[in-house]
Amino acid sequence: MAERIETDVAIIGAGPAGLFAVFECGMLRMKCVVIDALEAIGGQCAALYPEKPIFDIPAHPSIEGQGLINLLEQQAAPFAPAYLLGRRVETLAKQEDGCFLLGTSAGDEILAKAVLIAAGAGAFGPIRPPLEGLESYEASGAVRYLVTKKEEFRGKRLVIAGGGDSAVDWALSLKDVASKVYFVHRRDKFRAAPETVAQLWAAAEAGQVEMVLPYQLKGLEGDGGTLTGVTVATLKGEERVLAADYLMAFFGLSTELGPIAEWGFGLDRGRIEVNQTTLETSVPGIFAVGDVAVYPGKLKLILQAFSEGAMAAHAIHPIVFPGQALHFEHSTTRGVPG
Ligand SMILES: Cc1cc2nc3c(=O)[nH]c(=O)nc-3n(C[C@H](O)[C@H](O)[C@H](O)COP(=O)(O)OP(=O)(O)OC[C@H]3O[C@@H](n4cnc5c(N)ncnc54)[C@H](O)[C@@H]3O)c2cc1C
Repeated sequence: MAERIETDVAIIGAGPAGLFAVFECGMLRMKCVVIDALEAIGGQCAALYPEKPIFDIPAHPSIEGQGLINLLEQQAAPFAPAYLLGRRVETLAKQEDGCFLLGTSAGDEILAKAVLIAAGAGAFGPIRPPLEGLESYEASGAVRYLVTKKEEFRGKRLVIAGGGDSAVDWALSLKDVASKVYFVHRRDKFRAAPETVAQLWAAAEAGQVEMVLPYQLKGLEGDGGTLTGVTVATLKGEERVLAADYLMAFFGLSTELGPIAEWGFGLDRGRIEVNQTTLETSVPGIFAVGDVAVYPGKLKLILQAFSEGAMAAHAIHPIVFPGQALHFEHSTTRGVPG
């Protein structure tokens, strides 16, 4: 359902940069709305490497992508951000009173005093297979592009399609819970880490995964909601129907900055140029942090995005609270709500 929300700061992107910015804005008493094109928060960490350990997050010698996102969500929770997920920010218009009106693909309207763009490489969208009736199976959840809870697939029959790291990693991970895993790829070469490909072949030899090569997806069988099978075919036209409850297609994610690139900022190879000390773009009142922001010496690292969130929040404060002095306080002094 489309929402109309007024807020202090509209944050575009719920990756690590956007989530930590909620905390930093919250510490300065600024309310946030966070919008993301994906159905789940977490940006690249959750969508691309939820179970891979990250080794360069300060004070976490090792933490998995999804684990980091869970902690960031927990850290932001006292400030009760509104999350608008599964919708892309498409329009932005400056109002006469200096506020910004953002419009989303779901018809939401967000009126904000400042905008913080934490859009990474742009709105994520899965590369979808061109199959008849796909939309209805996507809507019922029988066709997936992401795995959020592995347990959901316990005892289920899965067709996993793709030839990259995600397809191989998820086949290895889900074979432990699923009753059947078919691995469909159009050739017998993979674009994945050689060690995990070797593990996949070992799992196939052990009868834990059935390799269906060289086949491509051809059709979906079922009533338009419940999936019963996936038809696959070779280039010569030989067909097989694989009995399945879910199709998981891992053909990669497409990213595009989309309409954001048209909002009048200075851009450097698709990234938004910002003032290094304030993270403000060339459009007053609009800030950018994380992978999407660029300045001399920028490193595309999560730890750098965290510090940018703190600096941007301090720079946004006078816009949200004009004329009010901001006295710097440590979190140990200020505390958090609750
Ligand atoms: C395999 C892999 C391993 C990595 N390992 C490390 C590591 O060890 N250490 C490290 O520091 N970094 C690592 N990175 C990089 C790190 O993940 C990124 O630097 C980080 O995710 C950037 O965070 P972000 O919040 O700026 O952007 P993202 O995580 O890209 O999130 C941006 C979000 O904005 C959303 N969005 C964009 N445009 C719109 C729009 N118009 N409307 C709505 N939503 C929109 C996107 O859907 C996305 O969810 C790794 C990356 C990959 C792919």
